[in-house]
Amino acid sequence: MNLIDDPWIPIRRASGHETLIAPWQITESADPIIALAAPRPDFNGALLQFLIGVLQIACPPESDDKWEQWLENPPSPASLKQHFEPFADSFNLMGNSPLFMQAFEPLNGDEKPIANLLIDAPGAQTLKQNADHFIKRGGIKKLCPCCAATALFTLQTNAPAGGAGHRTSLRGGGPLSTLIALDPAGSQLDNTLWRACWLNVLEKSVIGGLGDGTPKKPEATFPWLAATRTSEAKTGQDTTPLDGHPLQMYWGMPRRIHLNWQTTEDGRCDLCNRASNQLVSDYITQNYGINYNGAWVHPLSPHVANKEGGLLPQHAQPGGLSYRHWLGLVWSANRKIDNRHRWSAPFSLTGNCLRNNFACTPSATTWTT
Ligand SMILES: [Zn+2]
Ligand SMILES: [Zn+2]
Repeated sequence: MNLIDDPWIPIRRASGHETLIAPWQITESADPIIALAAPRPDFNGALLQFLIGVLQIACPPESDDKWEQWLENPPSPASLKQHFEPFADSFNLMGNSPLFMQAFEPLNGDEKPIANLLIDAPGAQTLKQNADHFIKRGGIKKLCPCCAATALFTLQTNAPAGGAGHRTSLRGGGPLSTLIALDPAGSQLDNTLWRACWLNVLEKSVIGGLGDGTPKKPEATFPWLAATRTSEAKTGQDTTPLDGHPLQMYWGMPRRIHLNWQTTEDGRCDLCNRASNQLVSDYITQNYGINYNGAWVHPLSPHVANKEGGLLPQHAQPGGLSYRHWLGLVWSANRKIDNRHRWSAPFSLTGNCLRNNFACTPSATTWTT
């Protein structure tokens, strides 16, 4: 399966019909696509970031005007397909290395049940203490390729601390992602999946300014295209913005993982219930993958300044937004902050957008671990 060419993203159309699409299909105009429809909310949040990331690498707008044109009049699926195609080779899920978000090199690590890819899966310690009271073990044994790909991307994007040398995401463990959403009451535009994505895509020049944006090898953006920059205590290294392209922020890969496609089965997926002849039931993982460090400033996360003036990504509190966050929410909601500055507002919890004439409300997607 190829994650650019093949249908794997679960969506809902205006009619209510749910199906799988390839990323380039999001602008289909007959029975338009209005939302993601994955079986888990963390999957929907991650898939939105996946689509934003694909648009950001494949067709970033050259100017604000171009951005606005596509917000109002989306490009055709055929045009998107053309833009995405040069990147398709980096998005194979199975077959020979390199494979999407899976380590380039052979791994010599533990075999884990596929359920461990899911962020709320009980860890080894919890199982040993027989303490899996709320999220039970054993519920998920086999995943279809679509759910496995989504689980893999969700974990790499949000990775919590996972034991010695199992690295956290580029934004730390369980980062807060702040995505801009269309406010249907404040806009003449229909609220489609395309707009939910495109509102969050930044101009090309803005991305270049988030790090060293000079052209680099493809693996500077997609780290699975070359041997992992490993992070063992003595012999390993950290990975800072100087070691990659700023676009790697959309494709961070802190965990070294190989999905096991050797022993797949026929049947139904334990998450989405779709039939598949390639259900995957385990994966290999090895520690000391990429250890992100230094001044990464992820465009989809709010940051706060520390005493030294460095920016730190915000993390959600267990329980989500609470009273102590109201000032940041209310204060920023009435200010004009350009999209490109939203990460630099030092005491606003949410990035907030009044880009051009399109009022947009912040929609915070939070993961807590
Ligand atoms: Zn599934
Ligand atoms: Zn804005």
